[in-house]
Parts: sequence; C-alpha cells; structure tokens
Amino acid sequence: MDGYIRIPILEAAALCGLQMKPSTLDDIEVQARCPFCDDKSHHLYLNTEEDLCYCHRCGTGGNSVTLYAKITGVDNKTAYRQLVEKVEGIAKIPPSKKPASKLAPLALRHDVYYDLLDLLTLSDFHQKQLLKRGLSLERIKENRYRSMPASYSARKRIAAKLSASYPLKGVPGFYLRDGAWTFAGNGGYLIPIYNKDGYIQGMQIRSDRAEGGMKYRWFSSNPAKGFTLGTKAQTWVHVTGDSQSKVACVTEGGLKGDVASYFLGDALFVCVPGVNSLRYLPETLNGLPLKKVVGAYDMDKLENPQVRDAFSQVEKIARQNGLLFEPLEWDARFKGIDDFLYARHLYSTGQVEQIPSI
Ligand SMILES: [Zn+2]
Repeated sequence: MDGYIRIPILEAAALCGLQMKPSTLDDIEVQARCPFCDDKSHHLYLNTEEDLCYCHRCGTGGNSVTLYAKITGVDNKTAYRQLVEKVEGIAKIPPSKKPASKLAPLALRHDVYYDLLDLLTLSDFHQKQLLKRGLSLERIKENRYRSMPASYSARKRIAAKLSASYPLKGVPGFYLRDGAWTFAGNGGYLIPIYNKDGYIQGMQIRSDRAEGGMKYRWFSSNPAKGFTLGTKAQTWVHVTGDSQSKVACVTEGGLKGDVASYFLGDALFVCVPGVNSLRYLPETLNGLPLKKVVGAYDMDKLENPQVRDAFSQVEKIARQNGLLFEPLEWDARFKGIDDFLYARHLYSTGQVEQIPSI
C-alpha cells in the first residue's frame, strides 16, 4: 500500500478505552480485557512488535485498524483515517523505505548468538517441554536452548551488553528501537541452527503461542516489516550429530533433528527449515563427506502431493550431488521420526508396555 502507516496496537487499544493489565505494559505482548467476549481477566493479547491482537478466549483477532473499527462501529477505511488523525507522532514513512542491513558474516553471527545465549537462561516451563520430547537434561544443556526474555527492558539490557562488543547491524533478530538496540521475537524458546562446524548460523524460536500461527519462526528482524536497521534471517539448514558420518538423514525442523540424532547415538541429521526451503541444502550436503542421504520427512505429510513433490526434490538434489538416496519409513502412527524414536526408546527401556500412540 502506498504510504500506508502501521498504527501501534497500544495506541489503538488506548483510543478504544481498552483496560490493560499494568504488569504487562512493558512486555512485547500486552494483555487487555477483551471487549468482544465476556472476558473477566485479560485474554486479549496485544502484540506490540507485529501490531496485531488476538483473544485467547473467543479467538477474535486483527490489527490496529480492524480492532478500532470493530469497537467503534465504523468501517476500516474510516477507522484508519481517524487513527492517523488521533495518534500523534506517526510519520508517513512506508516501512519498505527503512534502511536494510547487509547480512553479517557467519563468524560474527556465531559470536553474537553464542554470547546472547550465554546471557539468557532456559525457564523450567521450556525445560519441561524439551524433556517431554525425550531429550536428557545434559543434551538440553549441550544444545544451548534458551527462553526468550519477555520484557523490553531485559532485551534492551542484553542488547546493550552485546553492542558494547559487537556491531549488531546485519545480525538477524536485532534492530534499533527508540535509538537503542534490542531484539525481536515472540515468547518461546530459541533453537540454535548450527552448521557442520558447530557455528551458529541463525536461530529459530519455538513459539509458545502455536495456535493460529506458525510453531517455528526465525529469529529475524526483517526491515520490510518495520524493524529499523534490522536484518532478515535466511533459510539456513541445521546440521546435528556426527559430521564425519558418510550417511545423513534429511528431515524438516532443527529440533526434530536434534531429538532424532540423540536417540540414534548422534547420527548425522541435516534439517531443512521447511519442506520447500531447500535453498541451502545442496551446499550443506556438499560440505559433508557423504555417500548416502536418507529421507526422513514426516509420515503424515507424504499424503500431501505438494510435500511429496518437495520430497522428491531432496532425492534429486542428493543424486545430482552423486549421493545414494534412500527413503525412510516407519510406523505411520508416529508423525515425525523423533516421535517414533522416542516411543521406541520408551518401549525398549521398559518404561511403557506397548508402543504408545502419539
Ligand atoms: Zn475475547
């Protein structure tokens, strides 16, 4: 849209007279009482980074304009005009005009991410989620998963420490807000995406808010989405397990690969971020001393023709690079290879009588 202005969700909510929970005012997601249902507490989440809202009680969602329009009973066009008039200090700069940063080299990204993870902790809540997938405490520690801090003040403090040692321009996830460095991303835990040499190329966030959205997102600060001096993440491929192996399993999703590799005695897993995100797959396979690729995509997805097509692309890439290819199938009651291996582990260690269905 030409000259479209993104209106801050908090401004719109305040103009609508929404009651906000004071203790959440400094959070990325501010909670408010939902005006669309019989909400007695604060189920309407106002995401200040994406300027979107969503009620966890009634499912109503939208942006600043549709929220204002619904509450005041005007159409979206009128709502937009009124908001632009009422909200002070919003400049008419299309988001795409914001300067983009060139992607920082791998060595710098690794150093920044490594130190960032050092400054963060893993909450008990997230640790429990990871234990539930079958990983040991030791492996969880080794893989360096961390929880995203919820408040702006915590993020700013951490980013300030990092910016004292590194230029953060060009490192996906970081951006300038009110003249100070901070980082983007919703609540959840961070999954480092390693290359074959153990460098952190980028990170994904396993979102706490999976419903109605994507479970996994890149730790990214795309300037086209309004992040000043931000940088968009690439679709990096995660390498986990023994990088000297002659056989690699290709699967979808870094965490899935981490779990499967753990159960298979550190077998090598090459994890694409999505079934169709194969951009970095050829160079990743080429960088490893491989003879064979084993395709281990989710079983349920093989029914989907588009996924089957993407899967045959993996086979094509493997063969084009002179590698043998073998598809791997397992008990179709278990969606992912990690689910299957965990169930098998529970069964073989006598923790369950029968292979449980997941
Ligand atoms: Zn509601």
